[in-house]
Amino acid sequence: MKDENFLKENNALQLWHPMGHPGDAQVTPPKIIKGAAGSSITDIDGHSVVDAVGGLWCVNLGYSNDKVKQSIADQLYELPYYSAFAGTSNPPAIEAAYKVQEFFAPDGIERVFFTSGGSDTVETCLRLARQYHRLRGEPTRTKFLSLKKGYHGTHFGGASVNGNNRFRIGYEPLLPGCFHLPAPYTYRNPFNETDPAQLAQLIAQAMEDEIQFQGANTIAAFIMEPIQGAGGVIVPDATFMPLMREICDRHGILLISDEVITGFGRTGDWSGARHWGVKPDMMCTAKGITSGYFPVGAALISGKVAEVFETSGAEGAIYHGYTYSAHPVGAAAVIACLEETLRLDTKTNAAALGTQLHEGVLKLAEKHDIIGDVRGGHGLMTGIEIVSNRDAKTPMDNDTMKRIHQTAYEAGAMVRLGAHNVLMSPPLTITAGEVNTILAALDAGFAAA
Ligand code: PMP
Repeated sequence: MKDENFLKENNALQLWHPMGHPGDAQVTPPKIIKGAAGSSITDIDGHSVVDAVGGLWCVNLGYSNDKVKQSIADQLYELPYYSAFAGTSNPPAIEAAYKVQEFFAPDGIERVFFTSGGSDTVETCLRLARQYHRLRGEPTRTKFLSLKKGYHGTHFGGASVNGNNRFRIGYEPLLPGCFHLPAPYTYRNPFNETDPAQLAQLIAQAMEDEIQFQGANTIAAFIMEPIQGAGGVIVPDATFMPLMREICDRHGILLISDEVITGFGRTGDWSGARHWGVKPDMMCTAKGITSGYFPVGAALISGKVAEVFETSGAEGAIYHGYTYSAHPVGAAAVIACLEETLRLDTKTNAAALGTQLHEGVLKLAEKHDIIGDVRGGHGLMTGIEIVSNRDAKTPMDNDTMKRIHQTAYEAGAMVRLGAHNVLMSPPLTITAGEVNTILAALDAGFAAA
């Protein structure tokens, strides 16, 4: 490994960092994280902080899970790679699919298609949705509905259903036939509706209108996150996802639940859909499936969808997949990670400490009037919307947001900024003491605004 000076000098030269401006990275060099243990990370200068972001909403088991690490290492020596394209398979892939299916069986999931991450998984579900309708004899169903503020990765399909224009403008034209409904975001919405249940009804009405306008027989699927993550941790009313399920059913539209963040315990249940009592037709997973230790995603397919593929003739063949689909090392990581997730019952800790974090942030909102909205309270996902004027709800400027971030970091916690939101999704194994450290660091960050 090169020395510290080399790393600092070259940090933003050859390496383009995702989701940022290459020029900004040279002015404010990205923090170089060189080590991690438990729920904490350590930078190249030796400063350790609690990682309130869990990597990127993914390190559910924390950084020190030896069982997962050992399984990955063992598998590298046993079989470092082999393709699982039709004609070949490998032992960990078979076992991982069995375990993932078993884990999501209460959500109605019967088949598993592995990918290399969340964006791949979204793409997989969108493509399979179109093929499903074609196989059923409804090839006109090609369009997709989704929610504003939704995040579904950055591939062309995912960006097309994405509900934040940052990921769209500059990359257009995107996939035709993608239409966006208002988000269940009570703090700001086109209806000026602050009651979550009423807002759910209004969005349901907007969805009905859009379906009438487009023609139900042109729509393949509706994709949504059970709790919108990157969009600001937007928690819908408990009636929202069931309403969406009912509308999809009535119009023959598939419901795809994007669980890339919400899967594997983050919401306090094993899936976000289960948290809201809904069975989706397909689910997108990644991140927590390996706790971020290896890049893996999985598209999860219900019996209803699987049956159509499996009982179709030659057209039922899936001409879709990735070199690293069902990668044996990734699959070994999945097996160990699922075993650890269940053994540690991470969803129970997520529910309890999620409440502690949420209540702590609500207390900070009494003290700091730059806090416009606090969202969370369903497991370990928290969003804090920062404003420069509470009455006018004026979004806080970027420089102040960066100062909040840096001050919180110096005071002991890494948080994430999403525009003028502070976002948090710590490891599900976090302790009460570490939650208090995050709250104290946030307090310092807000005081510096
Ligand atoms: N869907 C959701 C809900 C996500 O949060 C993300 C990533 N944050 C993605 C899809 C894309 O996943 P990836 O970055 O692994 O491609």
